Amino acid sequence: AIPVLTIDGPAGAGKGSIAGMLADTLGWHLLDSGAIYRVAALAALRRGIDLQDEVAISALIPQLVIEFKQGDAWLNGECVSSDIRNEACASATSKIAALPKVRSELLALQRSFCKAPGLIADGRDMGTVVFPEAPYKFYLTASAEIRAERRLKQLSEQGLSARLQDLIQDINARDERDSNRPVAPLKPADDAVLVDTSPLTQAEVFAEVLRYIR
Ligand code: C5P
Repeated sequence: AIPVLTIDGPAGAGKGSIAGMLADTLGWHLLDSGAIYRVAALAALRRGIDLQDEVAISALIPQLVIEFKQGDAWLNGECVSSDIRNEACASATSKIAALPKVRSELLALQRSFCKAPGLIADGRDMGTVVFPEAPYKFYLTASAEIRAERRLKQLSEQGLSARLQDLIQDINARDERDSNRPVAPLKPADDAVLVDTSPLTQAEVFAEVLRYIR
């Protein structure tokens, strides 16, 4: 079987950076499942579909061409990397991600990323639902304050500003929605290794994960 390493956890725990570093180091493929959900949410937003309309959104998904090329996300041939990275899209994403039919429509696309020599899968339910047989599973956490501070730093590096309190509120609202939905709620797989990244640097988290797989 093709090996899969799953990294789940709440928003801003540093999953994306660690997943990217692992994919580079091991030479494995990378699945940013959050980006898939974000592109689907963007398509729904653009069409003005009610974000609770499970039938309409799940019917929209098979009509979408969602692709990843050179680190960019594409929707029907248009590069949408910057359009999916704002808080409004993130919030819409966690709303449509709570709809069971939307999740099942996106399953095959996510699993199609599993190719030799291996896959690093980043998301909320990679170890629990999408790749339950994965031999390596990690669950990264950090306090909401620390995750918001990291996000603030990221934003300021891009020349953007925000209030820490607002970021904490956004993160908490999104985590709550992701954790309390009836399907694929955010939670560690029974066999996942839990890593609290609060006191750790990125390099330390990376070393910790590598320690388990080498
Ligand atoms: O990881 P990212 O912040 O891009 O995810 C955006 C949103 O997509 C999450 O808040 C969550 O609601 C949803 N998501 C999900 N399942 C995944 C990945 C993301 O429900 N595997």
